[in-house]
Amino acid sequence: MPSIVIVGRPNVGKSTLFNRLTRTRRSIVGDEPGITRDRIHGSFEFRGRRFALTDTGGMVPGDEAEIPAAIFRQAQTALANAAAVLLAVDGRSQPAAPDIELARMLQRSGKPTLLVVNKIESPRQEAELGSFHELGLNPLYPVSAEHGTGMEELLQAIADRVPQEKEAAEPTPEATPSEAPETRIAIVGRPNVGKSTLLNQLTGEERSIVSEVAGTTRDAVDAIVARGKGRYRFVDTAGIRRKGATKLMAEKMSVVMARKHLEEADIALIVLDGSEAAEGGVLASDATIAGYAVEANRSCIIVVNKWDCAPALGRSKPEFEQRARERLKFLAFAPMVFLSAREGAGIENLYGVIARVARERRKRVTTAAMNRFLANVDFSRASVPAGHRVRIYYLSQVAVAPPQFVLFVDRGRPLHFSYKRFLENQIRKAFGFEGTPILLKTRVSGKRA
Ligand code: GDP
Ligand code: GDP
Repeated sequence: MPSIVIVGRPNVGKSTLFNRLTRTRRSIVGDEPGITRDRIHGSFEFRGRRFALTDTGGMVPGDEAEIPAAIFRQAQTALANAAAVLLAVDGRSQPAAPDIELARMLQRSGKPTLLVVNKIESPRQEAELGSFHELGLNPLYPVSAEHGTGMEELLQAIADRVPQEKEAAEPTPEATPSEAPETRIAIVGRPNVGKSTLLNQLTGEERSIVSEVAGTTRDAVDAIVARGKGRYRFVDTAGIRRKGATKLMAEKMSVVMARKHLEEADIALIVLDGSEAAEGGVLASDATIAGYAVEANRSCIIVVNKWDCAPALGRSKPEFEQRARERLKFLAFAPMVFLSAREGAGIENLYGVIARVARERRKRVTTAAMNRFLANVDFSRASVPAGHRVRIYYLSQVAVAPPQFVLFVDRGRPLHFSYKRFLENQIRKAFGFEGTPILLKTRVSGKRA
């Protein structure tokens, strides 16, 4: 799909234009600066052709101080990959310095650029657009994104400027060399634990981002990183970087986003703030978010960030780990990794753990091996209340990612909790399955072993 990118200074109506062209509403639109800054992806159709559309947010040259550097660079990456650029300006005012600067930059880039003069709602206004001709990007496309006028002309111009042959010449995904399965990763946690700093470290910002893919059914941007034999997709990177303004809103949003991001993921990086003194570093919302991850059957890695602060705080890893695990008992299967995202310390190690956890999630144990294992389990060591004992005839792994086992038993009743936990621990001891939940189901079997 050819990629069309909208650029322009803040408030000229880029998101309104984006919504108009894609006929969507952004899921989270805030008046608070920053919320709509991240890149947003969508698509639209015109005369049977589909185009991808990206809104770069408020990109202003020379404004790196205000816009997070990584986002600014990503906008530039989007521009580099664009088939055509829509430079949006506000037709109700004179061209401003950033408009002129952007127009120059785009002319230098040689990209097909259409100057979209927005907020034109009367013939009189349209007659007064002379100063915009001086930007050197003629013809102009006067539109009202809000009312939908001028869209047909704009769409036709886009279609004319983007050659159709290019679509067919694009390499198909099958042609890409990497055959390793992709691991989708969600970075979740409270505000300010360091999620976006960690994301930047893991993706090396734009250096190792192989591609960014617009979700087809969601307003999301994923970053894909190829490392060794693995491909790692960090889901909804825009969502990770998105900042709420008020503390309460940001806190609520982090929980909502965690849920959404977990839906898309294989592995959850549950980020804790290692410099947090209260509650063993695990606050209520940390536990809530971690709970979602387990409920959703995601593999989990507990990432203790800001560990550079540990010496000054007199903290030790075993002490922190013990206190945190106390509050995250349901995450006993998740490895805990200590690092400093800001200093980039421990990132290689984390990638190693991610690769291992990804493998374990997809691991399959043969029924023969499973039953050899079963024969050696000493069930008398399971502390199960009287009347809850069952006989297990066979044990078979029926699914991977997450691993799921079916126990063929002699009685049609749910497995007692402690029996389940005992068996799960035995399976982990024998086969690993680090980081992933294990699902156990029972089926009554008539057959005797
Ligand atoms: P962005 O920050 O550049 O993405 O701009 P927005 O889409 O958020 O729009 C900024 C403001 O301009 C909002 O108050 C919009 O309602 C308003 N706006 C956008 N398009 C139009 C338009 O076509 N006509 C008028 N009158 N206002 C518009
Ligand atoms: P997010 O809201 O979870 O995305 O958190 P950010 O990545 O924006 O980080 C929040 C704050 O914590 C920022 O001021 C970061 O500079 C800081 N921070 C992030 N990682 C570390 C770290 O490893 N050590 C220290 N000391 N601070 C960090």
